[in-house]
Amino acid sequence: MVEILRGDLIAQRIEGEVRDRIVQLQQQHDCHPALAVVLVGEDPASAIYVGRKKRAAARVGIRSIEHRLPADTAESDLMALIAALNADPAVHGILVQLPLPQQISSDRVLGAISPDKDVDGFHPVNVGRLSTGTGGLVPCTPLGCMILLDQVFDDLKGMKAVVIGKSNIVGKPVALLLLERECTVTVTHIHTRGLPDIARTADIIVVAAGVPGLVRGDWVKPGAVVIDVGINRVVDADGAKRVVGDACADEMDHARVITPVPGGVGPMTIACLLSNTVRAAEMALGLVDAAASD
Ligand code: NAD
Repeated sequence: MVEILRGDLIAQRIEGEVRDRIVQLQQQHDCHPALAVVLVGEDPASAIYVGRKKRAAARVGIRSIEHRLPADTAESDLMALIAALNADPAVHGILVQLPLPQQISSDRVLGAISPDKDVDGFHPVNVGRLSTGTGGLVPCTPLGCMILLDQVFDDLKGMKAVVIGKSNIVGKPVALLLLERECTVTVTHIHTRGLPDIARTADIIVVAAGVPGLVRGDWVKPGAVVIDVGINRVVDADGAKRVVGDACADEMDHARVITPVPGGVGPMTIACLLSNTVRAAEMALGLVDAAASD
């Protein structure tokens, strides 16, 4: 019988650990970790995500400072805000919610965030650190996937991992983290030929494609572990709205473990954002080295 790995419960435990680290920072260093959250425009999904992150920050004692800017904000104005947040010692983490409106280059904006405050881990310096295995701030969703895998395996060495999706925010960084842990990694994407056969070779499948039910039961070998990153809003035949993942959860009985959607990777992403914010505060105080792994 497949085990359902409840990311929401593990996320609660991480939140508890983050809370303890914050109490230490406050008591021993008079440091109050703060996260600046920048939201440009009125995208409803982005507003929901930002709301969740702010509530989670409040639960653990991180001060969140929200900057809401209109959809027609000029890139130069957003850059000026980022520069001010970079320079403010009371701000430890900066998160710019994506997607940004068309007139703004996400690459330029993400590249303008100080790497030491880049709690999403998207700055090229942090991407470089990740790819060379030299620490830095690691993107939250991939970090969450690795913590989930650590609940299942003592050691990932030699495991065959297939990553489906090669985005900069999930697929590529999770592939790098798996490689860092000595997995044999195959990264696949929409143009990959023979994906079901490749997936069937995997001990670990991490799927982040944004395609509801892409991974069928017969893509998964018996005893494999499936980490389902997908978040897809679908409407049932009876008109009910539901959120589903990228794997057909009801076809996975022969798998060893699958993460549910919702309640799997999603809560882990938020917990890792909180953890990264505290790490950024610890880095600012010189308590941890940016070049050290977590
Ligand atoms: P993206 O659109 O940037 O990338 C999707 C990737 O999947 C691409 O590399 C594409 O080539 C590949 N792909 C698409 N269709 C495919 C197919 N039929 N077969 C094989 N590969 C295919 O998406 P993203 O930002 O990486 O997000 C992927 C999914 O993960 C989305 O559902 C998103 O909502 C979800 N997501 C969840 C979290 C979380 O916290 N749980 C965080 C980020 C993204």
